[in-house]
Amino acid sequence: MSVLISGTVALDSVETPFGKKDNILGGSAVHAAVSAGFFTPTSIVSIVGEDFPKEHLDFLEDRKIDTSGIKRVKGQTFRWSGYYEYDMNQAHTRDTKLNVLTEFDPKLNDSQKKSDFVFLANLDPEIQLKIISGLNKPKFVAADTMDFWIKSSREKLHEVIRKVDFILMNESEVRMFMETPNLPLAAKRLLEMGTRAVIIKQGEHGALLFTQNFHFSAPSYPQEAFRDPTGAGDSFAGGFIGYLARTGDLSDGNLRRAVIMGSVMASFNIEDFSLDRMRRLKIREIMERFEEFRKFSEFEALSVAHWV
Ligand code: AMP
Repeated sequence: MSVLISGTVALDSVETPFGKKDNILGGSAVHAAVSAGFFTPTSIVSIVGEDFPKEHLDFLEDRKIDTSGIKRVKGQTFRWSGYYEYDMNQAHTRDTKLNVLTEFDPKLNDSQKKSDFVFLANLDPEIQLKIISGLNKPKFVAADTMDFWIKSSREKLHEVIRKVDFILMNESEVRMFMETPNLPLAAKRLLEMGTRAVIIKQGEHGALLFTQNFHFSAPSYPQEAFRDPTGAGDSFAGGFIGYLARTGDLSDGNLRRAVIMGSVMASFNIEDFSLDRMRRLKIREIMERFEEFRKFSEFEALSVAHWV
């Protein structure tokens, strides 16, 4: 089954301890779609300005990502600029220029309305709600958000959470949003708001999945080739939902595998700036790293009788 992804298509300026790059391809929808596209046909709903380089759209189309839902309008493309210090789990925003995003009024075409799997990547919650209302009985909708929207649109974000199956946030955002340092408690409060499951992304430390009936923890990957964490959360989400859409299996066991697949995709994305590592990535490498992840957290049971 295919995946529909809404979010930003952006030009980023990023500085990490490993370098500085200006006006590179980024955006929550781009990172998520490229990751999901390894598993299943993917389309994007978003907006760009007339300054958005055609080569970036060509790159997405070459990867068979449907870009017909990316509207090009007069004005400037969304821009994000930020930096990371040695703790690369924490992005520091220098500037966010919404530009054409302020006039984005998403209109889904007939096939997008019928999408079964939908990922609402980081975007104005008001726009996320418009997309939800345009959908025709989707099987599975997940949404992501970040501090920028928690601060500016808290109420609308509550409404999004009540309407989606899965909510993804990173750990500092979940603490900020639920006003508690305790992650299991924060997840419980989110579940009480109506979403079926919560994924808390912990950057290089892994990810946590909370549902009403079980909890799962994905291990961290000992990544030595770590250059730029931008887009890690979206690559995680794209791998997670792309894998679920490809298998069509929403059982508990497959949700666990999907969380690992998300972690695998994020671990590749951070190896280089922008989408550069994803451009070179091969499906075989993805499967080999999935197996590495599986081994990290494999351990054998102890015999209780021996100890008590
Ligand atoms: P992440 O996966 O959280 O690292 O997402 C990084 C991407 O999110 C960058 O490529 C940015 O272009 C994009 N981004 C940054 N700020 C926002 C925002 N406020 N809303 C939507 N997308 C954003």
